[in-house]
Amino acid sequence: MTETTTLQVDLGSRSYPIHIGTGLLDQPRLITDHLPARRVMVVTNETVAPHYLDRVLASLDGREAHSVVLPDGERFKSLETAMRVYDALIEHRFDRGSAIVALGGGVIGDLAGFVAATWQRGVRYLQVPTTLLAQVDSSVGGKTAVNHPGGKNMIGAFHQPRCVIADMDTLDTLPDRELRAGLAEVIKYGLIRDADFLTWLEANMPALLARDKAALAEAVERSCRHKAAVVAEDELEAGQRALLNLGHTFGHAIETHTGYGAWLHGEAVAAGMVMAGWMSMRQGWLSEADFHRLEAILSTAGLPVAPPAMESERFRELMAVDKKVQDGRLRLVLLRALGDAVVTDAFDPAALEATLDHYCA
Ligand code: NAD
Ligand code: MG
Repeated sequence: MTETTTLQVDLGSRSYPIHIGTGLLDQPRLITDHLPARRVMVVTNETVAPHYLDRVLASLDGREAHSVVLPDGERFKSLETAMRVYDALIEHRFDRGSAIVALGGGVIGDLAGFVAATWQRGVRYLQVPTTLLAQVDSSVGGKTAVNHPGGKNMIGAFHQPRCVIADMDTLDTLPDRELRAGLAEVIKYGLIRDADFLTWLEANMPALLARDKAALAEAVERSCRHKAAVVAEDELEAGQRALLNLGHTFGHAIETHTGYGAWLHGEAVAAGMVMAGWMSMRQGWLSEADFHRLEAILSTAGLPVAPPAMESERFRELMAVDKKVQDGRLRLVLLRALGDAVVTDAFDPAALEATLDHYCA
């Protein structure tokens, strides 16, 4: 049993708590205190439902609770699937005072959040993230979206949840590969803004991989502190929030090239962070020793440290269409040191070329 920690995301009237600990799904008040709604729709998927849906429904005892169980997979993060939730909301006459609970990984969180943002111009919702990635990243910050066939997360809205409940017990059933992919985003926080956390992660990686609950809770807490701080400073991603995209421009190119699903997002980000690190070293910002530390911690976490076989031309082409291109200039997140990242379009183009040459055929 670990203690429950509660963090706050400070966004004025839209502030909300993040509860982190074990046994949280068996504390109904965590959910009900934040949902003063009579009707609640729990949105989840067919993989997560058999493990956790009953407990969430039990905590809604006394309310009119319904659930929609969606098929599993990124390809169902679509308007068509969202329509199935809208249909259920219509069927059960959900009004503006009703609420939604997102129970699952980032796919469910993003889709259910998008439905909450748009249903009758916005209803309350609560996040119960059940993947490590969702606990440290997607459930916090209010970005919601579904995909368009022509691009990921193209249809979305900013809509903050009322509460996030991260129960480490839900990670018991998470496949190893998904756990490791979540660790990539955890390591990212250390790389962009917390060198001490990186040192802690180096020491605690075996415990995390062994799913030690106290270690997991601490990693989630420290990650959420960073996510919450960045979001509080820059809710709508006008500036600093972009630091969270370390490794993501290279990573998205890998994801698109391999086809979504072949590489998990966290795996692509891991390889992308290595490429951003190598480029930072090439620019003279990161020492060789620090680059090797970056590579080592990702590889200890069982994550890839190089992209798949890809032509450099393909990288260039895919990176040019990335959302982070502004006014035709590519912006990248690079490391000035471990724990110190910058978003910049003023990088040395030769360093980017050298990076692509180094990692590509
Ligand atoms: P996911 O939601 O697809 O979950 C991964 C797999 O684990 C799925 O098969 C899921 O059914 C399964 N699963 C979930 N919880 C489980 C559990 N406790 N036990 C067993 N299996 C479980 O993927 P993800 O990595 O959680 O999230 C990825 C999504 O998050 C992407 O769509 C991405 O765009 C989005 N995202 C959003 C934000 C944001 O700020 N909104 C940030 C990062 C990522
Ligand atoms: Mg990410």
